[in-house]
Amino acid sequence: MPYRLVVLLSSAALAAIFAVVGYYLYLQADRRIDIELAGEANRLHNVYAVQNEVLAKRTQALAYSLAANAEIQRLLDEGHKAVWAEGGGAGGPRAAALREALRKTVTEQWIDLHTRYGVDHLHFLLPGIVSFLRIRTPEHFGDSLAEIQPMLADVERDLDPRGSFVVAHTYAGMLGATAVTRPQSDGKQQFVGMLEIGYDIGAHLSSVSAQLDADIALLLDSERVDGLMWEAQRPIASIGQYYILATTRPEVADWLDAGALPPLKRKPQSHLLTWQGHQFQVVTFALDDYLSRVKAGQPPGTVLIWRDVTSLVGERDSEHAAAIRGAMCGYALAQTCILLLLRLLRRQWERCLKQSTATIEKLLRRNALLLDTAADGICGVDAAGNITFINRAALAIHGYRADEVMGKNPHHLFHHHRPDGRPCPTETCSFMRTLADGEARESEEWLCRRDGSFFPARIIITPIHEQERTVGVVVVFHDITEQRNRQKALLQLATTDSLTGASNRRHFLDQLEAEMARQRRHGGYASLLMSDLDFFKHVNDTHGHAAGDAVLSHFVHTVHQTVRRSDAIGRLGGEEFAILLPGDGIHGARELAERLRRTFEANPARIGNLIIPVTVSIGITELQADDMGSEAPLRRADEALYAAKAAGRNRIELYDPARRQHIPAEKAESTG
Ligand code: GH3
Ligand code: MG
Ligand code: MG
Repeated sequence: MPYRLVVLLSSAALAAIFAVVGYYLYLQADRRIDIELAGEANRLHNVYAVQNEVLAKRTQALAYSLAANAEIQRLLDEGHKAVWAEGGGAGGPRAAALREALRKTVTEQWIDLHTRYGVDHLHFLLPGIVSFLRIRTPEHFGDSLAEIQPMLADVERDLDPRGSFVVAHTYAGMLGATAVTRPQSDGKQQFVGMLEIGYDIGAHLSSVSAQLDADIALLLDSERVDGLMWEAQRPIASIGQYYILATTRPEVADWLDAGALPPLKRKPQSHLLTWQGHQFQVVTFALDDYLSRVKAGQPPGTVLIWRDVTSLVGERDSEHAAAIRGAMCGYALAQTCILLLLRLLRRQWERCLKQSTATIEKLLRRNALLLDTAADGICGVDAAGNITFINRAALAIHGYRADEVMGKNPHHLFHHHRPDGRPCPTETCSFMRTLADGEARESEEWLCRRDGSFFPARIIITPIHEQERTVGVVVVFHDITEQRNRQKALLQLATTDSLTGASNRRHFLDQLEAEMARQRRHGGYASLLMSDLDFFKHVNDTHGHAAGDAVLSHFVHTVHQTVRRSDAIGRLGGEEFAILLPGDGIHGARELAERLRRTFEANPARIGNLIIPVTVSIGITELQADDMGSEAPLRRADEALYAAKAAGRNRIELYDPARRQHIPAEKAESTG
């Protein structure tokens, strides 16, 4: 893999790792703040709910304690009777007098409740849930709350006190309600009306806000309020869909104005709100009243609790920045380390490569030297059958230059023809066969030189295997011309007579026996001539031994000129020669012998000016199928020769097996 690609891939992998780590840390910061905000939202909601419950109980208890006042019980009882007597509803003057008497009776207690406990609503009602006296708005009375105040209806029904947030004609806030009863002469309690006490919601919110360490606002849905509260009694601040019933800080009006708040829902929700450079956590949930809480109606509004979390968000942003910074610094550091490491590794690798290259080059030089100094021709052939290397000896033997053979097929260069001119097919070429079957071979073949001449070579072909495939061959060869010549000379020496060139006795006997074996297998004729020069001692004695030698050579020369190439001549001893005539019967042999005798007689040996006339006597026999060895025909030919000598020499005698006697040739001819 290229170095740059390694650097690129490792950098990319490193960047990806640090990006993931950075992103994880980034998310961790988000997760931490989310958990904290969720916990805080939960706490705010719970504390608010508990405080609300406490307030509801307190209003309920205050209402109950006020209802125990006997004068209040009497005035309500009287008031109820007066209203009934005066036609119901608002009643008449008697009812008005009793209302005024009630107002005066509770004025002192009202001031005390208002200043000490923050009570800002006190309402007396007659049975049938008809308003009798509202302390703050005494001008409003006689209206029925039966339809709009289910809590009062429930109190009237079971006479149990209750406390809850409610929205009514003149008041929206926390109310405690209790039944007012009056003991009768028979000891029973008579229901004479009800009493309602409400707290100042603003004061209540302030105290809850202090406990929560957060700001609170109560928003009323205008749809509920407009249909219920009298216009003059509704909260003043109305923005869009909402009235702000109470708030600990004014910015909520701006948020409503700017539409900065998310859609307000029943379930508790927490949002982050950015306002004037500050971050606020805003928790919203439904503002339940008695109707929505007990009767499963629509909540009349929403509770908004918020706190400034600018520093918390700032911490999160710092953590984000730290995560990004950390990841980038880590990446830069790791990248630097990786680059340094890669650089170091590359240098080491380059050093190793240099050393290996030097070693390989040294080996290659040594190998090239070895190849070039080798006396044998060596050449390498690849899988495609082309020469990939060749040493000097091979080039010298074939007479080529290196550039003329590299990349060429060795068969086409060195092995295309045989010495007799026949083409040598590629499929029989040993180089190509080893390339094909991967088998090592050793052979002696004729190779061609560049000039078209041939030489015999001993060739060793070794396949080159790589992973069980033959990917080339190495051919090693050397010229064996001299070796063959030496062998030929040795053979000549071992088989011929050095003086005359005829076969020596042993070789001739081998030839004779081979012909006898051939005849036994295939049948046919063959004849044996036994010749002996006449009075040869005399030649030696007269002209000397050297002249005798010359006569011997001359005789053999004459034989060679007379016989066929397939005929064999052997010197069996001194001046005695045997001639084997394969394929010739006795008559053919006789003719040839006669021709030889005459030729030799007519062409005497000449040594300078000296002519040495010599004759020859010849005995002839035919090879017999039942001849067991060479002795038999030799003996017969000898006998015939003896007969020729005996008959006067310079003649030919046939061996006659039938009569077991030697017949002169002329006579045999006339009888045969
Ligand atoms: P014959 O007609 O009865 O054969 O008479 P011959 O003189 O030829 O008698 P023989 O065959 O017995 O004698 C052979 C002679 O040939 C004897 C020997 O001196 C001579 N001789 C044998 N070998 C050689 C040789 O290598 N060179 C020479 N110059 N003479 C040889
Ligand atoms: Mg002789
Ligand atoms: Mg002799």
